[in-house]
Order: sequence, then structure tokens, then C-alpha cells
Amino acid sequence: MPAREFTDVTSWEAIQQKATDLAMPVNSLDNYVDVMEAGVVRWKQEGAVGLKTASEPTVGDPDRAEAMHLFEGLRNGSQGALPRDYLREEMLKICARQDLVMAVHAGMWGDFRNLDSQHIIPSIMRNPDTHFDLYHMGMPAVRQTGVIGKNFPNVWLNLCWTHIISQQMTRSALDEYLDMVPVNKLFAFGGDYHRPVEKAYGHLVMAREDIAWVLARRIEAGVMTEDQAVTVARKWFWDNPIECYKLEV
Ligand SMILES: [Zn+2]
Repeated sequence: MPAREFTDVTSWEAIQQKATDLAMPVNSLDNYVDVMEAGVVRWKQEGAVGLKTASEPTVGDPDRAEAMHLFEGLRNGSQGALPRDYLREEMLKICARQDLVMAVHAGMWGDFRNLDSQHIIPSIMRNPDTHFDLYHMGMPAVRQTGVIGKNFPNVWLNLCWTHIISQQMTRSALDEYLDMVPVNKLFAFGGDYHRPVEKAYGHLVMAREDIAWVLARRIEAGVMTEDQAVTVARKWFWDNPIECYKLEV
């Protein structure tokens, strides 16, 4: 579910509406964080396994005093700015408390400078108990994204969408990831691509081609057995997302 539904509200009326929807009062910043958590709990009860955000630049470390000041300004109508960075940080803590994953769009889209995977690093480091599912290899910043997946125990790398952006970039980056990123930290295929269902199927066929290509080269080079390759493929396609999302299958 989109985290921005709660973290990127644009008016005092919108804040009030969120609270009313959940039959809660909202007179303070802390009240609103409680509303966010109640909303997330409701999503979870309805079957959500994670929230979604994007790796965007922040204005600095989330500052509680500044956030309270901005919230008051919104309430009394003196200003329209919202403490978005503070609320996003609170949302990451909520994910940890509620056992939900934060999926993070990174790279490819429009002005991709504002979606670089490295923007999310401070949030990753401040929230070691939150699971991050980092999307799209951060394309084109596949190497920097690989290092993020290697360095931080709470980050998984998700190849959703990468196979249809560029099979060749996916293969060359994945070949490097195999050297560097633990095999339990990667998802070979994922979301962010849906209707019509033929597109999802076609993307899965391409994903299997790419994974097979990378692993077959290792087998041919004599550095991996076929059994080892199958074990890795199973982790990438099946075991790892189940572990990260704590799914029951
Ligand atoms: Zn995306």
C-alpha cells in the first residue's frame, strides 16, 4: 500500500479526514502518527504485507521540533508545508513494529536523479529493524545499489521490472551481484507490473532466461555445480521473498 497516503498529506482538512475515517482525534503531531499506525494496522488486517515508498532526496535528518512547528503551522493555517520527512521516518518505525516490509522504488522513471537508490541509505541505517525491499536494481545505478544490498542486513534487492528495462543490464549486474551480494538478499522477480496478466507472464519468462544465463555461465566456468545453481535460483525466486515478507505458504 502507498505510504504517501499518510505521509504526503497536503492540507489540514486531509489530516482531519484521515482521522475521521479511523474514528480518532487528531490535535497533535503524535496524534497523527497514531492515526498513521491505525491506518497501517487496518491495511494489514485487510491483507497487506508491505508499504511502498520511493528513494527520494530528503531535506535533512527528520527533526521532531521542526516537525511539530510545521504541523502547528498547518493547523492554524499560517503555512501549508508538511513534515513529510518526519512522517516518512515514523512510517518506517511503524513498519518495524507491525512486521511489514517497506518496498522502495529506486532509479528508472522521469528525472531519475531524484530517485537514486543512495537517497534511502540514511533511513536504512536509522531503522535497522525495518525490512527494505529495494526495487529495480536502482537502474541505471546498478553497482551502487548492489553495494547497498551487500552492506545493510535489513535490505533486499528486488529485480522486479529490471528484465523488461534491459535484459543485458540485468544479466551483467546480476553476475556482479553473485560475487558480492549474499544469495539470501535477492529477489529474481517481483511486483510493480501487472495488468494485463500476459505482461506479468512475459516478464517472468524473461526473468527465468536472465537467471539461467547468469548461473549457466558459472557452471560452464566450473565455479558452481548445477545443484548449487538450482539452490541459488530457488532462493532468488522463492525462499528469499518469503523470508523477507514473513509470508505463510
Ligand atoms: Zn517502481
